[in-house]
Order: sequence, then C-alpha cells, then structure tokens
Amino acid sequence: MSHKELWLQIILDLEPKINRANVITWFRNTALFEIKEGLMKVGLPLPMFLDWHVRHYMKETLETAQKIDPSIRNIAYVVDTGLGEKDSRGIDVLKHFPEKKVRKLPKKREVVLPGGIVSKMFNPRYQLDNFIVGPENRLAHAACTTVAKYPGENYNPLFIYGGVGLGKTHLLQGTGNALLQNDPNCVVMYTTTEAFTNEVIDCIQARNMNRFRNRYRKVDTLIIDDIQFIANKERTQEEFFHTFNTLFDAGKQVIISSDRSPHELTLLSERLISRFESGMIVDVKMPDLETRMAILQERCQEAQVIISRDVIEFIAFNIDYSVRALEGVLQRVIAQYELEHMTPTVNSVAEIIKHNQKEVKWIPGYSEKAEAKTKYAITIESLVTSVSDYYQVPKSEVMGTARNREFMVPRQMIMYLAKTKLNISLSKIGEHIGNRNHTTVMHAVEKINQYLKKDRQLLRDLNAIKKETGIS
Ligand code: ADP
Ligand code: MG
Repeated sequence: MSHKELWLQIILDLEPKINRANVITWFRNTALFEIKEGLMKVGLPLPMFLDWHVRHYMKETLETAQKIDPSIRNIAYVVDTGLGEKDSRGIDVLKHFPEKKVRKLPKKREVVLPGGIVSKMFNPRYQLDNFIVGPENRLAHAACTTVAKYPGENYNPLFIYGGVGLGKTHLLQGTGNALLQNDPNCVVMYTTTEAFTNEVIDCIQARNMNRFRNRYRKVDTLIIDDIQFIANKERTQEEFFHTFNTLFDAGKQVIISSDRSPHELTLLSERLISRFESGMIVDVKMPDLETRMAILQERCQEAQVIISRDVIEFIAFNIDYSVRALEGVLQRVIAQYELEHMTPTVNSVAEIIKHNQKEVKWIPGYSEKAEAKTKYAITIESLVTSVSDYYQVPKSEVMGTARNREFMVPRQMIMYLAKTKLNISLSKIGEHIGNRNHTTVMHAVEKINQYLKKDRQLLRDLNAIKKETGIS
C-alpha cells in the first residue's frame, strides 16, 4: 500500500467517527508524507489546521492508523502550504465523499410512513435546540417545546403566525424532529398547504376521497405549514376541516403556521377559524438586534468562518425585516471570503447590502470614518492608520522596533503597499516608518511577496485593506 492509499484508507475509516462535514473541511488536501521508525508524518495545507488536528483528531487518527499498520506509534504534523487542489501528494476528499450529506437536504424529499402516509422529510438542520430565542419568539419556541413533550395535550391545535422568513418553518420542523427523537415510533406528518391541496385534487380526480381520509387516521401529529394558502379553496378547506376534527377528537396533535393571525384569515371558513382559536395561538416577530447577532454568530460557527463583531453587528443592524435575508447577506459575505479571498469589513459588507436594499444604515460613528476615507488622498500616513486599525494594533508599535509577528506583519504590509501601490521610493518609506534604511524596506516588500504565495489569510487581509483604503 502506498502512503497515499494508506492515508485514504485512514480517512475513509475515520469518516463514520468524525462525520463527513468535518472530513471535508479538515482533511481536504492533507497528505501522509512518510512513516519512519513508527512516526507518521502528516502534511496539512494551512497553519490553522494544526491546532485543530492536534486537539480534535490526533488521537482518533492514530488509533485508526494503528488498526491498519500496527507499527505506527506516533504522529507528527507538518504544515505545507504547497498542498492544494492541484498537488498530487494530497487526498482530494471531495472526490471520495462527493455528497455533503450532513449539510444538504437528503435527496429523497418525502418519506412513506406506516399505513402509506407520505410525509415531507424533516430537515435535520431545523432543530428546536439551534433556534435562537429572543423576546420576539420566546413564547412560540416555548409552546413548541411543550408540544414536543406533551403532544395532544394542552396546546392543541398550536397555531404559529408571523411574517416571511421569521422562523415558522424552522419551529414546525424542529418540533417534528423533537417529537420523533422523544418517541421514534410516533407518526409525525409534516406537509405544506400546497402539497395538501394537491393531494385533495388528486383524490377528487381519482374519485377516492376515502383513501385520502383513511390516510390521516394513523397520524399522531399533523404539521401543516402556511395555511394561508388554503384561502378560497373551498373543497380543500372542507377536507382539512374533516381531517382536523378526526385527529382532534382522537386527541392527536395538530400544528399550523400562517403568515397572519386566525382572525385576519378572512377567506377561511368561520368554523375553521373558530377551531384554530380554540387552541394556543402564538406569533413570531423579527428578533431584536442582539438576537439577530446571535443568529449570525451561530451560522458563522456552523460554516467555520470567523467574522469580526463589528461586521456581524453591521449586518444585524441593517437587516431588520427577515432572518432569511439576514442569512442571505451572511452567505454572500462568506462566499466573498472564500472565493475572492477577502476578509469582510464593514465597507465591503455595505456594498453587499446595497445590492439588497437602497439604503445602508450606518452604525453611529462609522459614517464619518467611511467618508473620511474616500475624501482624502492616500498618503503613507493614512496607510499607517488604516493598516493599524485593520489589525487593531497601536500605531506606535507598528512604527517601533518590536519584532513580534503581530506588529511585523502590519509594518511590512504598510511598506509593501507604499512601494507597490503609492510608488514611493524605498528610502522615503524607510524614513517615514520609524527611520529605517532602504534595505529594510526592500526586505519587507520581498517578505510580503513571499508570504502572499502561500498564506491565503494574508491575501484576504491585503485585499480587505485595499478595499478599505480605496487602493486598487
Ligand atoms: P418562515 O417559515 O417564517 O418564512 P423560516 O423558518 O424558513 O421562516 O426561516 C428562515 C431562515 O431563518 C431559516 O434558515 C431559519 O433556520 C432561520 N431562522 C429564523 N429564525 C431563527 C432563529 N430564531 N434562530 C435561528 N435561525 C432562525
Ligand atoms: Mg416557511
């Protein structure tokens, strides 16, 4: 077995233990370089992988490797930024794990339950546990949690209403998931009003209403999403009313969502509305700023992306009408980070938001800063300010002589930008940056050039700084 085959086998064996999404993220483009005297040398493509592997996967990896080759006794990790998509030493895990099962919806969108009931598949992403609770949705979340524990008891039917993209489907599906976790044998059916209507139409056409009615008898919990679409559909309303009564009378749970409250559903029959009103009615509203920020943080964690608090706050501050829109902006921010190699900044995110809506609201304090940057010509002084701000290090340290990496990199970055973009002479730059001599500046420019070839994070930082300062 070659090193490459062995490494692939180890990854394949690890996958069930650490799950596919993690394999795709953390084992992509990794390689087994050599095994020497029981020491297995593993190559990682990025510095940030190192700590993660040591903390999370080292033990498991070693055990798995030993099962295949008992002579292996230890692991050493080496970071080799040359490992990448095109490098044949590494393993292209995406080829071996093509479907990101953990993140995507299962392909099969429906399941057949006992008794031939067809239910939409629950999306595992929607859980009551990962729903972020704030004052505007606390009651709805609490009601769902109670129903998941005690279906068919106090909150029946449970009616959840609120505007588009505020988490109704998430709550409904989360409740379904929780019900199934609590009792794997119960029959939980989730359907959209649209699917329900289509089913009614099909059964009318087949002149087989009995089949339709029998189908629902075995259901323990019926979850029906977006009931407002039943307006004007008299026959569907009729059937729904019967289904509802059958289940309700048998003590089964019914959960309904709608974009408006029962008494605003004027196109529904009176008796249906009064049925809804006999249960528990809760609304979901747009979460407040802090809750919106928490939702964004949670999503960043899921995507394993780190975004600064300023940027998170800025997105949450601006997108105040729909959680779905909030997530949409974040997705574009993440895409920019991954595809264009740019660390998101308030200004870069402002541009993304402008695509969505006409106005961008600035958090007090930012507007002046943003304007100031576009008004004044870029000088070496302004570069010093921007780069220090970006890295959040004091200017005095950047201008000083400390040789810690956290000050060296910004210092070299300033010199690099001044030389390549402002075209200032090496000795002038040296004079400005703490009276250094021109060879130091030349060295800094070379260093940054070298780093940029390997360090993708530095490239992202450089692009972000260029964007912030308006240098192109
Ligand atoms: P609705 O059905 O009300 O139109 P969804 O349930 O589809 O809205 O929610 C839109 C998106 O926002 C989903 O991705 C959902 O997971 C997310 N979302 C909404 N509210 C929350 C929350 N409080 N916590 C976490 N995610 C949320
Ligand atoms: Mg929905």
